[in-house]
Amino acid sequence: MLNNSRKKICLTFDWELYFGTSGTPTGSQIAPTQKLLDIADEFPNLRYTFFIDVLHLMRCESIMDDSTRLFDLKKQIRDIVKRNHRIELHIHPHWLDAVYIGNGSWDFSNLDKYRIQNLSTDEINLLIDKSVNYLNSIARKEDPSYSLKAFRAGGWCIQPFVGALSSSLIRHNIVFESSVAYGCFSKSETHFFDFRNAPHRSLWRFNDDPLIIDTCGNFYECAISTYPENLIQAISRKLELLFYKRYSLRMGDGIPLALNSSLINRLMRYFKSHYTMFSIERISPKRLIKNVNDFHDDLVVLISNPKEI
Ligand SMILES: [Zn+2]
Repeated sequence: MLNNSRKKICLTFDWELYFGTSGTPTGSQIAPTQKLLDIADEFPNLRYTFFIDVLHLMRCESIMDDSTRLFDLKKQIRDIVKRNHRIELHIHPHWLDAVYIGNGSWDFSNLDKYRIQNLSTDEINLLIDKSVNYLNSIARKEDPSYSLKAFRAGGWCIQPFVGALSSSLIRHNIVFESSVAYGCFSKSETHFFDFRNAPHRSLWRFNDDPLIIDTCGNFYECAISTYPENLIQAISRKLELLFYKRYSLRMGDGIPLALNSSLINRLMRYFKSHYTMFSIERISPKRLIKNVNDFHDDLVVLISNPKEI
């Protein structure tokens, strides 16, 4: 139980396939999300926010194969809205180069467009316009007044923000951003983000740069919460998690894309003190409650993924 009743927890989920080996919509999205929704029905005040990987659905529109489960994916989005949870915008631009390989699965060998910043201004404008209209039109079948309000960049690659990305979001009145995670950093052939100098808080206003507070800015950063860890704490957390995973195996049927390109980089990360995002699937329930209680801000933003639960 939480000690401090003033703590507010924002439960966010990235609703998407895997990007190493994709897995299937049934195993990695529909089935685990259904379980989450059913759990929420038992708790009247529990609301989720699902960041919908919209390009997956848009690519499925041109694939004539029922295995894409496009009908069921759209139905689940409507169900999320119908049950009073939020859907929001999540864009992984490398879907533009993904190749369908059958049975609902995809090949993501081409990651040239992994960062949205690798697209041209015109491409970003068009992509965001189409994506917002696509998701809003699905949600409005349940709630005619529904409008997206928040954005999370694919792979947290939100930098640089100013330019077509920023202006496109403003054009659609999407003013909440949720990609920044204090203390986290990654640079590889596909990823780039550097949040080591982010404000150490959960919510702030900004304009051109999500890392710089601007009290009159157009946007609100709803930052993913993180906690510091050294090597011993990371090992202890993972061992504890192994014990809990004996009772709850993850449902997803794919393999994640490695964040850092080399094994050495990934190992080095654990030998240094670093920050880890609050994710339900990466921590035991007992330690999660402790870390939430210990968190320095009254708002705690969790990031999780249905496929990992
Ligand atoms: Zn994602």
